[in-house]
Amino acid sequence: GGRSAAGGMPRIKMVLLGDSGVGKSCLVLRFVRGQFDPSSKVTVGAAFMSHPVALPDSSTVKFEIWDTAGQERYASLAPLYYRGASAAAIVYDITSKESFAKAKHWVKELQKNASQEIVIVLVGNKSDLEQDRDVSAEEAKAYAEENGMEHVEASAKTAHNVSEIFESIAAHLPRMLN
Ligand code: GDP
Ligand code: MG
Repeated sequence: GGRSAAGGMPRIKMVLLGDSGVGKSCLVLRFVRGQFDPSSKVTVGAAFMSHPVALPDSSTVKFEIWDTAGQERYASLAPLYYRGASAAAIVYDITSKESFAKAKHWVKELQKNASQEIVIVLVGNKSDLEQDRDVSAEEAKAYAEENGMEHVEASAKTAHNVSEIFESIAAHLPRMLN
């Protein structure tokens, strides 16, 4: 975070983590461009986008979002993105227990290696696929609560709760950034 040398909006460095295919890139695209592209490409390495968010006190912060690749072969790069990050969204797919287990692994890794002050939100994506749900909202919410994180179920496809992910992070950032 912090202010740029030229002044202006405070910038929030944020990283998206989670298994390949959970919808990280689609969530960013929905948030930044208001679009959903069902044939979007697999992320290679990491991608960067930035977008302003209005805070409840009506000031504005600029999110600098690092969208990482979930594949194992890129796992060793993750610290480059979460180190120095003010916020992280750890994403799983509500239709995949495996992706939820992977999300828990990311939570542990951040608790061990990221900044103590990092704001983490646990995101259950693909909430539009209720009929295929494999991770209960109650279980995920309880886990998030135990670990001091917010929990949001969202859908990049329908746009349900997508801006809430970023607003929740903004609301939990330390006051010094506002
Ligand atoms: P990433 O590997 O985490 O970046 O995942 P992508 O954003 O590339 O998405 C993986 C697949 O999930 C793509 O086929 C998307 O179309 C699909 N997808 C992403 N978000 C949603 C969602 O909210 N609902 C549904 N039904 N599909 C989604
Ligand atoms: Mg991706």
